[in-house]
Amino acid sequence: MKCHKNELKRRIYEKKGEKLKKKKGQTMDANIDKAARDIVNAKKIAALTGAGISVESGIPPFRGKGGLWESFDPMEYAHIDAFLNHPEKVWDVLLKGMKEIMDRAKPNDAHLGLAQLEKWGYLQTVITQNVDGLHQMAGNRDVIEFHGTFAINYCMDCNRIYNLSEITLDQLPPKCTCGGIIRPDCVFFGEQIPHENIMRSFEIAQNCDIMLVIGTSASVHPAAIIPSSALESGAKVIEINPELTPLTGRTSHYILKGPAGEMIRQLISKIKSIRE
Ligand code: NAD
Ligand code: ZN
Repeated sequence: MKCHKNELKRRIYEKKGEKLKKKKGQTMDANIDKAARDIVNAKKIAALTGAGISVESGIPPFRGKGGLWESFDPMEYAHIDAFLNHPEKVWDVLLKGMKEIMDRAKPNDAHLGLAQLEKWGYLQTVITQNVDGLHQMAGNRDVIEFHGTFAINYCMDCNRIYNLSEITLDQLPPKCTCGGIIRPDCVFFGEQIPHENIMRSFEIAQNCDIMLVIGTSASVHPAAIIPSSALESGAKVIEINPELTPLTGRTSHYILKGPAGEMIRQLISKIKSIRE
């Protein structure tokens, strides 16, 4: 009798679970539909991307599940003082691993989808916090690399430029032919963001009618306030992220809650069907 009762309970829970899953799926479908329609009706779209968009390309984010900061202290490795005091340590623990991953990384469906949105003429500019160069590799032509790029490195003494692939890591830190230390052309914590990047990004935010905010925890400033600048200027803000962020329900109008590659693949196929 007891066993029968448990079996009955199990079936009820299973049914409830299925109903919930179905409901979640329906809401998601509705949000994909809504985003597709908003995009095709927009005049100017900008995207702000963060580390999350490159997760499906095998590059770990800083925060969130599987994030690098679960194993490293940012101030110890990604602060300019850390690099200046111990460049060999920062190259060894943070940059060497990133180089190995980035040498192999390829754009995923999210990067490719944004390139498609640009080709169709919906998306004008990608503002990215990433340093991996995957947006350009996917085909986007107007990309603001807000925090610089790791694809390019330079000598701190003579400014000679080295592509990431030219750098060998048998000796750390890598050195220029002049003997100077090579550093990535990205903005470390404690460094100034190039003024031009800030000016142009905020100008774009204030002049778009949709801002897609993809794979960012919105916790690194001033990039984190670009979406609210868009909102205040009348733009619709649409988030794509598997997790809720400080923007969700405040700055963003709605969220496509899931991995960027999967969400953007669905979005692109929806837009295709609207265009046909
Ligand atoms: P973050 O690491 O602070 O946050 C990552 C966000 O991505 C989280 O909100 C997480 O929920 C989300 N996410 C995880 N998997 C995802 C997926 N499959 N699809 C969509 N979203 C997903 O990233 P941040 O906000 O960009 O800030 C961190 C800083 O670190 C940036 O300035 C960036 O320069 C740098 N960074 C860059 C790279 C890169 O170039 N790929 C990688 C790590 C960190
Ligand atoms: Zn040099």
